[in-house]
Amino acid sequence: MGARLFCARAVAALSTWGLKHVFHRPAANFPGKIALYVDPRVIAHLADKAAEGSIVVVGTNGKTTVTNLLADAFEAAGKRVICNRTGANLDSGVATALLHAGAADVGVFESDELWLAKTAPQLKPRYIILLNLFRDQLDRVGEIDRIQDSIVGALGATPSSTLVFNADDPLCAAIAARVSNPAIAFGVEGDMGLTQNTVADAQMCQRCSTMMDYAFRQYGQLGEYRCPTCGFARPARDWSATGVRLEAEGLSFSVEHVEGAAEQAQPAAAEAPVSASAASGASDPAPSFPLHASFSGAYMVYNLLAVAVGARLGGVDPAAIQRAIDAFDPRNGRLQRFSVQGRPVLLNLAKNPTGFNQNIKIILQDKGPKTVAFFINDKEADGHDVSWLWDIDFEELAGQKELRAFAGGIRGNDMQVRLKYAGIQSELAQGAADVLAKSAVDERGGHVYLIANYTALPALHAELTRLADAEAAAPTDVPAAETAAPDAAPAPTSAPAPQPAAISDEPPLVIAHLFPDLLNLYGDGGNVTVLAYRTRMRGIPVEVRRVKHGQSINLADADLVFLGGGPDREQRLASEALLHMKDDLARFVEENGVLLAICGGYQILGREWLLGDDVVEGLGIIDMTTQRAEGGSGNRLIDNVILRSPVAARPVVGYENHAGRTHLGAGVSPFGTVASSTGHGNNDTDKSDGVLHRNVLGTYLHGPLLAKNPEVADWLLACALERRAARTGQSACALTPLDDAAEEAANEALCRRFGAK
Ligand code: GLN
Repeated sequence: MGARLFCARAVAALSTWGLKHVFHRPAANFPGKIALYVDPRVIAHLADKAAEGSIVVVGTNGKTTVTNLLADAFEAAGKRVICNRTGANLDSGVATALLHAGAADVGVFESDELWLAKTAPQLKPRYIILLNLFRDQLDRVGEIDRIQDSIVGALGATPSSTLVFNADDPLCAAIAARVSNPAIAFGVEGDMGLTQNTVADAQMCQRCSTMMDYAFRQYGQLGEYRCPTCGFARPARDWSATGVRLEAEGLSFSVEHVEGAAEQAQPAAAEAPVSASAASGASDPAPSFPLHASFSGAYMVYNLLAVAVGARLGGVDPAAIQRAIDAFDPRNGRLQRFSVQGRPVLLNLAKNPTGFNQNIKIILQDKGPKTVAFFINDKEADGHDVSWLWDIDFEELAGQKELRAFAGGIRGNDMQVRLKYAGIQSELAQGAADVLAKSAVDERGGHVYLIANYTALPALHAELTRLADAEAAAPTDVPAAETAAPDAAPAPTSAPAPQPAAISDEPPLVIAHLFPDLLNLYGDGGNVTVLAYRTRMRGIPVEVRRVKHGQSINLADADLVFLGGGPDREQRLASEALLHMKDDLARFVEENGVLLAICGGYQILGREWLLGDDVVEGLGIIDMTTQRAEGGSGNRLIDNVILRSPVAARPVVGYENHAGRTHLGAGVSPFGTVASSTGHGNNDTDKSDGVLHRNVLGTYLHGPLLAKNPEVADWLLACALERRAARTGQSACALTPLDDAAEEAANEALCRRFGAK
């Protein structure tokens, strides 16, 4: 052992002891962190503690669950396992797990996507399992391509690691196509028949930028896809889930190993796998076996399939995999069940739209009365930007009878606004006990669902554990309804959501949402939801036309056009389609049509915009240009922003995330001036954001813009109603005031935190 490694181990051991015995804190990261400081190659030096090699699990959703279940499966097969079970998935977490471990057979490590490039070259894992890639924490990563590039780099640095990837995810398959590592593909065979959500992350072929065709979609971008132009398609699967059955109380499917399906297209593994016999299809003694679980959710089918493949590659027999699933009792707040006051409580993590939509599907399977609570924080590990709440289909919950809804966390106000515009009236709640107390007066009881994002989860977990343990220690026969606040006023369900005024039979206000399938980053589509809601609540009929790529619309019939933000690739395709509408759009603006354009959509309004060194022609509606800053698209302006704008008395709050720097021509007015201690707006120097020209409002603010700035929404609506009056002869009506208490509270909360310098 070298002197450095010796010192690294010594400081790690000392800090572990100190954390445990002096500070009584878990030691999941810190010992590894200081050991890495002393010896940056500590992971490489300790990697062979796992005598049979290791498996690394990466992907946006499901890492911790898959890692733990995989470790359980190996243990069920009698192996000694090293694992960072708590989800400490940076290099420090991996190093800590290795430092704490004794001699073992197998290493199973969860890795953060962007940290794989650090850990994998040292660990040299036998297998890297790539579960999925969804938009998540875009303020940390920018656009999803960056994660892909980083994973490709990590795989390039470990050429002998076999990539085990989700073939149903075009973003994972695109990575597999870019690397020369041996590869094994897995996927779900048939259509699981789930209702589709509004926003999917990857609609375009990453090879040739064409819209992909889907034979079927499971959820998000996962499914059976094919590019009609270049033929990029779902690869053949070596391992498949077939005959999937999804029920409220559980799921089942068969695992099929099709020998050499994808291997034919890929070079064979350079090194022997953890267990050579299981991986080389020819001698697989169990090419097909059933699995079942008592938990539900389509995403768990993918998770369990990944576990099954990883375990089989490691030589674990199917019976041991099933035993691990049967015994799976997550104690980390992921799909964890509790019983409090006789009420069944389910706690789960959801930290991005795809994860949240899957949780909503779980809740929808419960047809009885229920309480749901959503807790959203915006700390470093969550991402500071919560725009993504608007990419979740909370609307699916709106029709549910006997639903009590709560919103909490640092961004509880934002959550409450989001639910409001989904048609769900919610109360603010401080934590799990508060939710239970406030909903306990409802005698119908029912299940309680607590869904939280990353840093909101541990406090709820601790609270529920304490409540459940206290009850287990002092059992009582008193039924739930009587234990809870007996003298509280009965409040059987939440107050009903506000109802729209009677809708008149005047011609509808027409909102055209252009290319929602391309320009849909950061919840920008929520602006349309807000506009439509605020029109309907006033008894004015409204029609939203979602014009997808390839479709057309006659703008002479529209009052308000909306363009959202988008990643570079999608933005470019959208801009090509918009250029075909250039004259119509110019006329629309001339004739006082209302145009709201966010970020990527805003950039396209200018004379030209620059994608790297490529000059892309813009619509020329506004005298402005957009360029990439030095350092390329990694140099982004990302932060909370607060503006002072002539169209609102209150400050305008939002979040920016863009690589482009926009410069307005002489005499062109911005939408507002930056008044916050954070954020930039149009570019690095001007301290102003966006543009205001006739009835055109362009801005970098996501959030979405209108959710927490109802004055801006009403300014746009007033202009749109005038346009409708001119178009149809219908008189322009005044906007009646609405109750904006929730929106204003959310606005104020941000002003307090990021207010003017
Ligand atoms: N792709 C554009 C940029 O990075 C716009 C991004 C966005 O819409 N947020 O500048």
